[in-house]
Amino acid sequence: MKNKIKHSNLPIDLLKQTPEVLPKYCDRCGNHYSETDLEQIKSESTKASFRLGCKSCGNSYIFHINTPMNGILSARRFPFKPAITTKELKKFSKSTTIDTDEVIDLYSSLKKVDTIEDFNKLFHK
Ligand SMILES: [Zn+2]
Repeated sequence: MKNKIKHSNLPIDLLKQTPEVLPKYCDRCGNHYSETDLEQIKSESTKASFRLGCKSCGNSYIFHINTPMNGILSARRFPFKPAITTKELKKFSKSTTIDTDEVIDLYSSLKKVDTIEDFNKLFHK
């Protein structure tokens, strides 16, 4: 009897060991996914993003994986719009955009703050 379980904390390995998260077949056309259909978009020590794309019909999913140090996997699956390429997605994941209106709101609110009481009123409602 072989023991094939590898103790790896790499998100991609945990994902492959979690069939309830990672589907084996395309739910649109029934095509069998191969390992090469899984593409890594972003990977950090405890979280990663993957794209799973069907070669047959173009149906794609994005997986966001969180793996805390104890190796417990939490994953979320999103339908993916094929119009966006993985390359573009990589670009998006690097940019941290802040809504300009939010910044202005915060700035004008802070201008009204004279005392610590005012500050607390603003941030601890
Ligand atoms: Zn398909």
